[in-house]
Amino acid sequence: MKHQLFTCTKCGGTTSKSGEFNGYAKLSKTGNPFSLGSAVTATFCGDCCHIEALTVNKPERF
Ligand SMILES: [Zn+2]
Repeated sequence: MKHQLFTCTKCGGTTSKSGEFNGYAKLSKTGNPFSLGSAVTATFCGDCCHIEALTVNKPERF
């Protein structure tokens, strides 16, 4: 995983952390709740916990 310089837009912090929305929070294709869908990675500030970015892990499923 490449490391990009992170700067929080809310507090200016430079420590990023990330986690994954999975299970029931999985993103499904609109109109097709039974599609495979994808987990979503959230990147957030390690200082104030503001979520900076949401990234779909498997965009090819849409
Ligand atoms: Zn912050």
